[in-house]
Amino acid sequence: MKKHIFVLYTGGTIGMSAGSKGLVPDTALVGKALAPFAARCDFDWHVCNPLIDSSAVTLLNWRNWLAILKDKIPQYDGVLVLHGTDTLAYTANIFALSLKGLNKPVVLTGAQWPFNSENSDAPLNLATAVAALERPDLKDVMLAFNGKLFPAVGSSKLSTESAAAFDNAHFGASGMWSEEGGWEKVCLSEKTVEPFAVQEINPEANIECYTLIPGIMADTIARNIVHDTADAVILQTYGHGNAPDTPSLIEAVRTFTEQGKLLLNISQVPQGCVAAVYAQGSALCEAGAVSGGKCNLETAVALLTLAVSRQADVTWLKSQLHCLHLI
Ligand code: ASP
Repeated sequence: MKKHIFVLYTGGTIGMSAGSKGLVPDTALVGKALAPFAARCDFDWHVCNPLIDSSAVTLLNWRNWLAILKDKIPQYDGVLVLHGTDTLAYTANIFALSLKGLNKPVVLTGAQWPFNSENSDAPLNLATAVAALERPDLKDVMLAFNGKLFPAVGSSKLSTESAAAFDNAHFGASGMWSEEGGWEKVCLSEKTVEPFAVQEINPEANIECYTLIPGIMADTIARNIVHDTADAVILQTYGHGNAPDTPSLIEAVRTFTEQGKLLLNISQVPQGCVAAVYAQGSALCEAGAVSGGKCNLETAVALLTLAVSRQADVTWLKSQLHCLHLI
């Protein structure tokens, strides 16, 4: 039987055409991009107005897209999200964490080169996404790109130059697809018994992120953390979650977390895991930082955005990290 698919077209290179200052989003993609799959699926398009370059995405966009999905998911067999690659992994993570009790696939894809350009990767990415949407056993938020399927949690944009734009450093691909061979090695996630629900996000949530670099960074970060108005902070530390034990930084983290605010320590190493390996990282932990384990930046942003939106505490954050197999 033909699948009934809802298409959320948010913008991105996949549908861009040349403007006077460079590539700009375009509605010309609508209809034609999915025409080759019309015998297998019925597609209903929702074209966002305006279509955006995904580097411009805001929490308000996320809130609005989640509101659309809340309404549409129960009416369709699956959802295809067409999105720019720059922040596709961030949006995939916010969808994965907000859409609870999902019992159908939500697949995000885009392209490195416009659908209309020669040798574009768009046709393969769309074919991979549609093949995923046709599988009755996939019930997650996933990224489809370059013949691979990735779980949203842990995925990152890896390249601006190659068709292999995404990877998932800790969890890898959850399936491989080709026109000739179909699916190979598909890993299914555990089934959920939760009812479908959407956790709303507060577009005012103020999440800040600081990346340590050698030098006077620790003092600068300390000043910012103490004086700014962040609701939650991501600290991208070295290796296993190590940071200089500069007293001002440790005190700033303590002052921040003692207000009940969340500070998540994640590693800046793509396949890094924040864990209590070195004494060097322990001061941060004692000052109230939560160790993010395998959490990457995209997942950290989604987790803290949701935590602030629901006014959650450290216990909630740790339980989420645990459920997502990050710690
Ligand atoms: N700047 C574009 C975007 O993220 C890049 C892309 O789609 O590949 O919208």
